[in-house]
Order: sequence, then C-alpha cells, then structure tokens
Amino acid sequence: MRRTKVIATVGPASLAPEVIAGLVDAGADVLRINCSHVETDGLRERIRLVRSVRPQAALLVDIQGPKLRYGGEPRELRDGDSTAFSFTELGLPESRATGDGGLRAGQRILLHDGRIETVITDIVGSWPNGRINVRVLHGGVLQTNKGVNLPDTEVAGSVLSEKDRADLEVAQRENVDYVAVSFVQRPSDIDEVRTILGPTAHVIAKIERPQALERIDEICRVSNGVMAARGDLGVELPFQVVPAAQHKIARTALRNGVISICATEMLESMTSSSRATRAEVADVTGAVRDGFDAVMLSGETAVGIDPVRAVEVMCAICEAAERDVQLPPIFADANPSTAAVTAAASSLARRVGADSLLSLTYTGHSAHLLAACRPGSTIIAATPSPETARKLRLVWGVQAVVAERDADVEVAIGAGLAAARSEGMIRRGDKVVVCASRLSLRSDADTIWLHIEP
Ligand code: PGA
Ligand code: MN
Repeated sequence: MRRTKVIATVGPASLAPEVIAGLVDAGADVLRINCSHVETDGLRERIRLVRSVRPQAALLVDIQGPKLRYGGEPRELRDGDSTAFSFTELGLPESRATGDGGLRAGQRILLHDGRIETVITDIVGSWPNGRINVRVLHGGVLQTNKGVNLPDTEVAGSVLSEKDRADLEVAQRENVDYVAVSFVQRPSDIDEVRTILGPTAHVIAKIERPQALERIDEICRVSNGVMAARGDLGVELPFQVVPAAQHKIARTALRNGVISICATEMLESMTSSSRATRAEVADVTGAVRDGFDAVMLSGETAVGIDPVRAVEVMCAICEAAERDVQLPPIFADANPSTAAVTAAASSLARRVGADSLLSLTYTGHSAHLLAACRPGSTIIAATPSPETARKLRLVWGVQAVVAERDADVEVAIGAGLAAARSEGMIRRGDKVVVCASRLSLRSDADTIWLHIEP
C-alpha cells in the first residue's frame, strides 16, 4: 500500500464531476483549491462541488497571500539601464508599505517571475508614488501582471489581504480540512491566521521566502504542516539550492512531528504530455526519500491535458520509490518522551514483521505520533470522527477507518479491528500491533498489544 500521500489541485481542467471523482479514485488523497485563480464566491462553489462528488477526500484551500504583481505599463529593460518604479507599480498595497515598505538600496527586485533582475540604487519618497530607482542586472520585456519578488526584503505588516480574509472565512464556514498560507515570513503570520480560523484549525505554512526558510524550526512549532513551495522559493533563492532547501524542510518538519508537502513542477511535462520525463520520476523519488508526507500536483491536474493520468503516474512513482526507503528515527530521537510508546510500537512492528499497526485515535494526534516514527507497516487509524478520518488522509502511511470508541479499551480495539476487517485492511493470520490509550479516550497512547487475526 502506498504510504506517501498525493495532493491534486482542482482547476479548469478538473472541475467536471467525473474528473473530480477520477482524481480521487486514481489515488488523490487530498484535493487543493488555489485561491490565486478563483474569486471568493467561486471558492465557495468549488468547495461545495468537490465535497458533493467525493465527500471522503480531504480539502486543502491555498490562500494567495502577499504575492506581488507588476501593475505598470509593459516596457523593455536592458542590461545596465537605470530606471524607476513607483510602489504601486510593484503591486505593493498600502498595508505592506508604510514609509519605505522595508525596501533599501542594495536589495534586489525580481520581475516577471524571476526572469528580470534589478537592484535598488536609492529610494525617493514613499508609498504610493515615491520612486524606487534601480539598475537592471538582467534585462527583458516586462509585462503587466507578472510576478514581482523581493527576496532580500522583509515585508512589514500583515501577510493577509482583504480577499485572503474573505477566503479564510469561507474556508472556515465550509469546514475545509486544511488551509495553506502563501509567503509566510514568521511564526506570527500563522498566529494571525489562527485568530481568524480559531485555535484548532489545521494550518500549513508555505515556505517560499528565504526569511521563512531561516525560521523553519520556529514556523514548524506553530503550524500543523509546511509546504516546500518550490515555484516561488526557486525565484527568491538561486534555483540550485532548492533541492537542499526542500530536504531541510522535510527533515525539520519530521523532527517537529508536523506534516510536510513537496510542491510544484513535480510532473510539469504532463501538463501537455501523457508521459513523465525521467528527470521528473527522479524528482518525485527524491521527495519520497527526503521523507515528505505528501507530494503535490498543481498545473498538471488544474490545467493539464489528462489530470487523472497525472495522479496515476504520481501514485506509481511513489509506490516504487518507497520500496527501498527507511528513514532514520528523526522524530523519536528528538522527542524521546512524547514518542516513547509510538516509537516502541513502531520498532516492535518491525521486529515481528507486523502486517499493520492499529492506532486508536480521537483527534488524530496519536496516529500523527505513530506516523512521525515512519514505521515499516501500514498505520490503520480507527477514529470515531469522520472529520478526523478525512484529515488523516494527508498524513504519511495512515489509512483511517471510522469506528466507535468505547470507554473500555478492549471493546474499542475490537471495534477498530472489526472496521479494518470490513474494509479489507486486515486478513486471517495478520500480525497487528495495536497502540491505544487505557487512561482516557483523549490521552496519548500508553498501551501496546500484539493481535494475531484469527
Ligand atoms: P503557488 O505556490 O502555486 O501558489 O505559487 C506554490 C509554489 O510557489 O511553489
Ligand atoms: Mn507560490
């Protein structure tokens, strides 16, 4: 059974109900809606559409955040030229540009998604109409609406625009499973999102700025997960350092016991072709070896020629890649007390050659702790909550079933085993290592049992 989870972005190419169904049936565990390409009303409609077609799929809403776009007239910039931009031409909103907006001489301004590179020579005046004088390092034709990146600038103020706040409210009202936040810079950006969504919301920080990469540990501590958002990260950092950055993101997430997602251009050529390149196969394999919980498809399923085929290819690569990966006990070593019982269950499962592990979990926390130990066998998570079951679809190695949670732990284990049996997850003679809490429904696992299926 595949352990790495697959996220498919739903877009114009995949909005037909039969395509949404096809994505999930082909193996997509999570469906993503990218708010950069949809208005707030459209977001609500898409959420409802996806939920009505495949209610079991987890839903991730990706908030646009402070992506800047060039708002001026098209113009040609030549190497060595001196020219100027106003603050509004760079797309800087007032909320992010009081005074000089953190811009300084010597900082770079990248235009057209990184194709054009300039450096600030000096700044005259302030938002909105002050002049930012630049020298062109790498020229090109600058078109309206293309992405602007300020890799050296720490942006002050909120990362959330008015639209982002409206989108977050829709995501909360429609009860989506995960919200991802773009261009996070620091832990307080995640705190701000939680003030809108409430403390129990599941928030993923997109790591696509150098400032976030430097604070990856602190950001992991306040987030439910992190995404290696390689598209913008590869613009803001030199592209050749992206592989090392993604490795660091995956390992830091694992050490902190939070979810990690590898995103962007994973099967890019499949946007227009029915086959993946060998380099893409190697890239997905690399993400599996890095230890990510999930790999993500963007344009491949949102605007590609065959979204369902892209999911099939992604699933096949993950399954093959997992065969020879065993990660070091990063989480258990870093958290010996928190992981005491789950790490022991995980190594017992390895030693006895268990067919699966069964975790009784209420909020999903115990199943998370077990998954972070990256055991060698499938984790069956039995939970009384269909919502927890859906959220666990993003977690590495976990297959969730809904089962009643009796206060008596033996009865509860019986119910979990029965649910797994009826889903065909355990068979006669299987060795199942059970991890549960005797103390209370909601406390961490404190007990390990070895069950042999009669
Ligand atoms: P995006 O984020 O698709 O919203 O740009 C992902 C990335 O930058 O890689
Ligand atoms: Mn991005």
